[in-house]
Amino acid sequence: MPLLGKKSYFCAICRKEIKHKHKPKSEWQVEGPLCGDCYVDQMRKFHELSLKQNCVTCGVEKDVPDLWEPRYQWDMKGLLCKECFDKKEGEYKNLKEYCKMCGKKLGVIRYHPKSKWSMDGQLCRECWDSQKAKMG
Ligand SMILES: [Zn+2]
Ligand SMILES: [Zn+2]
Ligand SMILES: [Zn+2]
Repeated sequence: MPLLGKKSYFCAICRKEIKHKHKPKSEWQVEGPLCGDCYVDQMRKFHELSLKQNCVTCGVEKDVPDLWEPRYQWDMKGLLCKECFDKKEGEYKNLKEYCKMCGKKLGVIRYHPKSKWSMDGQLCRECWDSQKAKMG
């Protein structure tokens, strides 16, 4: 029998033609069928929404959507609450803009401490030189 008149379905989210319909859950507020990819996406999204996690810095428990991902420069894992995120961002800014040793505001040229000095932050030229003289 020819497949004439076979109705096609389109995913309600990405508009792709779909063969296997996935029925969205009522709390997703999506009308119509979904393709497999969008279905999995939605599942994941709504699953995350219902999750709670602790802020890695202060340990407060929050809903995941209320937590912030640390910036990649901070080299941290986990999520932060808004307060800790702001604090961290402030610290990081200071770290970047001022010489770690003398506190002088740094210009465009900054000096990175050598890894064996085990310091973070950046240094001005004078402090870098004096540190180098001391530590090698
Ligand atoms: Zn789709
Ligand atoms: Zn926190
Ligand atoms: Zn300095």
